[in-house]
Order: sequence, then C-alpha cells, then structure tokens
Amino acid sequence: MPDDKYERIWNEVWEKVVTDNIGADQINAFFSRLHPQAFSEGFLMLTSETEFTKKWVEQNYIEDIRGALKEIYGKDFTVAIEVDDTQVTSAPAPAPVIQQTVQPVPEKPVEPSNTPTQSEEKTTHSNLVSDYTFDNFVVGSSNQLAYSMSLMVAENPGQKDFNPLFLYGKSGLGKTHLLRAIQNYVATAYPHMKTIFVDTMELVNDYTDASREGSFTAFNDRYNNADMIFIDDVQRLQGKEGSINVVFQLLNSMKDSGRQMVLSADRAPKHIDLDERSITRFSSGSSCDIQPPETETKLGIIRNYVEELKTKNGFNLEISPEIQDYVAHNSSSNIRELKSAITKIFLYGETMGKKEIHIDEVSQLLKDHFSGGTMKKISVADVQKAVEQYYNISHADLVGKKRSANISHARQVGIYLCRTMIDIPFASIGNEFNREHATVMYSVTQIEEKLRESRELNEELEIIQQLIME
Ligand code: ADP
Ligand code: MG
Repeated sequence: MPDDKYERIWNEVWEKVVTDNIGADQINAFFSRLHPQAFSEGFLMLTSETEFTKKWVEQNYIEDIRGALKEIYGKDFTVAIEVDDTQVTSAPAPAPVIQQTVQPVPEKPVEPSNTPTQSEEKTTHSNLVSDYTFDNFVVGSSNQLAYSMSLMVAENPGQKDFNPLFLYGKSGLGKTHLLRAIQNYVATAYPHMKTIFVDTMELVNDYTDASREGSFTAFNDRYNNADMIFIDDVQRLQGKEGSINVVFQLLNSMKDSGRQMVLSADRAPKHIDLDERSITRFSSGSSCDIQPPETETKLGIIRNYVEELKTKNGFNLEISPEIQDYVAHNSSSNIRELKSAITKIFLYGETMGKKEIHIDEVSQLLKDHFSGGTMKKISVADVQKAVEQYYNISHADLVGKKRSANISHARQVGIYLCRTMIDIPFASIGNEFNREHATVMYSVTQIEEKLRESRELNEELEIIQQLIME
C-alpha cells in the first residue's frame, strides 16, 4: 500500500478522534507527531518521534484510535506505536557541557578565593520538580502555540531555532506551569540532563552574593554546569545591570554549546527595559505569547481542577455545571484566581458537610473574590458606544473600512480600551472590529506609545473610560 494511502487512513482516524473528543488542540499536538507505517485488516502501526509521545498517546488515546478504526472498518484493531528517532530533526541528547565560565562584571574586583560552593542540593537535578506537567495543562487557542513550542523544546532540547525559548504573557496565564512542565518532561525523558530552575530574583541574589564575596566560583559552579536553565520572570532584571550582563553571557555560552535556555516574562522581550543587545539575544530563539484564556479553556481548567481536588483530597461536593460556568464567567484571566475560587467552594462545602451547593450560596461566598468584581461586566459594545459618542462617529465607521485620521484614531483607542478594560483575547477584539489579530496588536502598541508622550491622550482616555463606566 503506498504511503499516501496510509496517510489518508490515518487522517480519517485522526479526524474521527478529534470529532468525538473535547480538547482537539491537544490531540492535534500529539497526533501530528505520529506517522502511519503499516496497515492491514485489524492492524495499524504508527511511529512516533519520541518515547514521550508514544507513552502519552498509549495512555490517553489508544482506545479512541481503536474506536475510530472500528467505526470505519467494522472490526477490532490492534494498534502499535513504535519510536522511530530517525524522524527527529536533531539529536535530543544534550551537547556536552563545556566548561566555559561566565565572566561577570563584579561590583568589586574578583580575588582568588576559597569560598565553599553553594549547597549541592541547589545545583543538582531533582527528578520530581513539581506537579506542573504537560498532562495537566489544558490547551486552548490562547495557549496552543506556547504549549506546542514548549513540548517541542522538551522533546528536543538545544535546537538553535528554539534557543532560548521565551514565553511571555500576563500573570497567571500558565508561564511557570509550562516551564516546569518542560523541566519535568526532561527529568523523565533525559534523566542524565542537569536542569536548573530559578526565579529571576534568585539569580539576582546569587549574583549579588558572589559580588559581595568577591568570588564567582560558586556562581559559575551552579550555572555553568547545567544542561538546561530556566529563568522565570526575567522582566525583573530591569535595572540590575550586573545580572543582565551575566544572563547575557550565560545565554551566549548556552546557545553556543547547544544547551537549552527557557525564559519567561510578563511582556515581550522588546518591551523589557534592557539594552538592545540583551533584547536581541532574548529574541534570538523563539518567543511566543500566552493570551488570556477563552471561556472554554477556563471551563476545561475548572473541570480538571475539580477532578484533581476530588481525587487528591477526597472532596465529594458536587460542583454543578452552572457553578462552573459562573466561576468561568466571573473570574479574570488570571487562572490563579479561578483555581482559588474552586478551592474556596470545596473548603466551604467540606466545612459545612455539604454534598451539594446552590449557585446563590456560591455567589454569596465569592462576592469579594473576583478582582473584576461580579458587578456589571464591561462589554466590547459598551466600549464601542463610548468611543463613538466621544469622537462623534457612527458604529458603521468605527468597525468599517474608512481610514481617515479621526476614524482610525478612534478605532485604535477603542481596540486599546477593549484590551485594557476587558480581559479578552486579541482575536475576539479583532472579530468585533472586523480586524486581523495583527492589526489589533498594532493598534494597542500604537496607543501605548502615544500615551507615553501625550498628556492630552491620557486625558482623552480618562474621559472615555468614565463614559464607559456610566
Ligand atoms: P504565570 O507563571 O503565568 O503567572 P502560572 O504558571 O503560575 O502562571 O499559573 C497559575 C496557575 O494557573 C497555576 O496553578 C497553573 O497550574 C494554572 N494554569 C495556568 N494555565 C493553565 C492551563 N492551561 N491548564 C491548567 N492549569 C493552568
Ligand atoms: Mg510565574
């Protein structure tokens, strides 16, 4: 049977599994890494690029694949998955660690010193780093790309195009979760690799200690022996010249030796207040943003979290779909807020010895919980109405094709206010203004830039915001 026939069969199975399941994005991420190798009546063999994909699909989707095959061919199939690492584009094994040491700019001259190295435990690789895994990360269009890139890096660390991997997005959108998921994956798939995970402030403190002690031996021991380094929240490097320089050098030596760096920040590299050369370095691999989650993704996260709490803590309170919906709609984009709302409901239920809880009780319980309040939610229509009123233009013009200066400006302001006042993804704003995702992003940046210089615009926006809140 020719190869493309296998592909057709596999595609048909794939489509069926996607249609029958929720979480198409996750299925697509894995199935795209599988390739049909052999097919006969009752037997399908697939190859996967990595052991991880094979295991995951075997654990999660094998029955769905068999079900789809049965539906199409009317008989039971045996499905085998084999790892074929010749498909991998570059060797997953890390390049040997080179003993190139960072040459920091110390605050005082470095003297030869016998300072003992830092605690061993800090530098060694720990296998069970946290509960954050790819498995318990819910994928939706807001985080799909970040998820896929993270998985790619986890499977093949050190590839030039993905080094460093730079994930950015507002607080609580899952950056740390993804970084830890990569680290956890690597701990299992490549146990010989030494990984180190630091919060930026920890690195800054290490650097400050080294400068104060006048010895970088411990610092270099810690950071230069790692095969993979994760630095979380690098926006905190702003203003810390010495540490910026150290991270820059570290990045260079890691990249040159094919060792992977993964960075996160609350904004894109170009918006971090750093020197041009660091920004360029930070952007020299792949960067990707995580957007606020859509309601559907929030609901997925809630469902998973409810199950997780029930299993782990033995909670048996029923949290109805209506309550799940309520939490999804009222919580901000910060998933921490969403999870803590669910925890609160469970703890309340346990304390009161309840098996069921009414929505009214939940809304009373959570009345002060959500940062945006549970009051009237501002909609895109509210923003558009206020903008139209302020600039005295029609709705048709605001969302239409005209590009006169006044209308373009109003449109950019409208888009900007939607972005800052309502927690919705760029794509949804785009739909409401009949604009592409890129245009929405461009409008927001434009207004941000103008706001830095124009006091007048600041005042203009304040008035429009008041109109919106009325
Ligand atoms: P950030 O580092 O971006 O501030 P975190 O990674 O700490 O955010 O995420 C905050 C919380 O939300 C964590 O408990 C994390 O597990 C959870 N979370 C975020 N995104 C997801 C997701 N897509 N699926 C499941 N849990 C998520
Ligand atoms: Mg974080």
